[in-house]
Amino acid sequence: MWSFPRSPSLRGGVHPQPRKQATRHLAIEPLPLPRRLYLPVQQHIGAPARPLVAPGDRVLKGQMVASGDGAVSAAVHASTSGQVLAIEPHPAPHPSGLPVLTLVIAPDGDDRWVDLPEPDHALSLSREEIARRVAAAGVVGMGGATFPAAVKLNLGTRHAIDTLILNGSECEPYLSCDDRLMREHPGEIIDGARILRQALGAQRTLIVVEDNKPEALAALRERLYVADAIQAVAVPTRYPMGSERHIIRAVTGREIPAGKLGADVGVMVHNVATARAVHRAVRHHQPLVSRIVTVGGGAVARPANLEVPLGARVQDLLEHCGGTPTAPARLLMGGPMMGQVIPHARVPVVKGSNGVIALTAAEARSADPGPCIRCGRCVAACPSGLTPLEMAARIRAGDLDGAAARGLSDCVACGACAYVCPAHLPLVQYFQHAKGALADRREQGQHQERIRRLAQRRRERQEAEARAKAEAAAQRKAERAARRQRKTAGKEHKTEA
Ligand code: SF4
Ligand code: SF4
Repeated sequence: MWSFPRSPSLRGGVHPQPRKQATRHLAIEPLPLPRRLYLPVQQHIGAPARPLVAPGDRVLKGQMVASGDGAVSAAVHASTSGQVLAIEPHPAPHPSGLPVLTLVIAPDGDDRWVDLPEPDHALSLSREEIARRVAAAGVVGMGGATFPAAVKLNLGTRHAIDTLILNGSECEPYLSCDDRLMREHPGEIIDGARILRQALGAQRTLIVVEDNKPEALAALRERLYVADAIQAVAVPTRYPMGSERHIIRAVTGREIPAGKLGADVGVMVHNVATARAVHRAVRHHQPLVSRIVTVGGGAVARPANLEVPLGARVQDLLEHCGGTPTAPARLLMGGPMMGQVIPHARVPVVKGSNGVIALTAAEARSADPGPCIRCGRCVAACPSGLTPLEMAARIRAGDLDGAAARGLSDCVACGACAYVCPAHLPLVQYFQHAKGALADRREQGQHQERIRRLAQRRRERQEAEARAKAEAAAQRKAERAARRQRKTAGKEHKTEA
């Protein structure tokens, strides 16, 4: 029987208003099929998927319409049957609202599945076959990270994984989609856990839930057998418990060194919704075509937890929920701490979209930033042990290296520092901007290095060619001289004779 490390709590962290009461009691309901579905070819971290269909093609639900290309990518499947109307750039769920290549599908209303093989005995499959089925189903991290799940499973071949954690902490305010999933489909999550454990060869499996979700814990525990050796464990409610680094530390006591992954300390973390998607992919051969989304925030008429076909637009969800009688001051994809502000409601729900939150002005707390008063609250709140005020000061001064030296790469962008900052400084935006600039600089440096190496190789090749030419010329000259010498010697010999 597993037990907590001596201190199962989070270092730092904050207690934001949970604001889950509007949706946590609401059962999951299906969103009716909208008139159009918009499926971006990039709904994951990695290379965009490559379209396999053309405008005018008819498609069935679950049919692969874009294949995952490259080492890190994920396939995209039609979320209902219908016709491909266009493949064109469309606004994506990103603050910039910049267009992403998107397949536009007109549903035919039949919602007819592609032929799927019969369900089989998933628990006797090899690691390779499980990873293959997960990849074929286009499963990605559904807690918002969107890293392709099959690529993460394959990490297990390079690292010895002894612990699998299913993350059901759902620490973001407003969101209750994972809570409802655990309450309503605990069996599917547990089966996903068994399949993931089988693939990883992990000895212990923990489903971790914050202690403000007692119904979810009870539902899971009711479905667990002693022989399963899977435990549903409660952790204290504190933000950002759901971050991979912090959940690992809280329940195993292991620290992930800077720049390393959970797999480096023998732990793999998957979200509970990902586990359910793995259950469907591996046991039932069903691709990822829908997900559960919390629609909330004070601006929404009727908050809900919806099972949404991927590609439905935010406006479809809001209309189903009675619209927004109060104009939203901020529209978010995801929770208010780590979610992304979206510029309008025409963007589609994608694999990582766990919430659509329309905040009123009072909820958005959009005060103008003031100067840092060095109160130190951000330092006390940071779960990564960083000094956000120092990092922000360095970034504002243009000293990116100084910020990097103060641990910028360990920042998980949880927003706890910004949440407590009385000066309302946009700390997370500073950190994300600086990380982006450092990544660009690194890439630029690598690009320059690639060019330098190419130029050097070219110079070496030219020098080698010139050397070879000179040697050949010298050789020819020597041969000519030898020939002349032989000729002269022959003449002299004849004259003497
Ligand atoms: S919480 Fe805000 S005001 Fe206080 S030290 Fe940190 S950055 Fe400065
Ligand atoms: S510095 Fe980064 S990790 Fe620390 S509280 Fe702020 S956002 Fe979170």
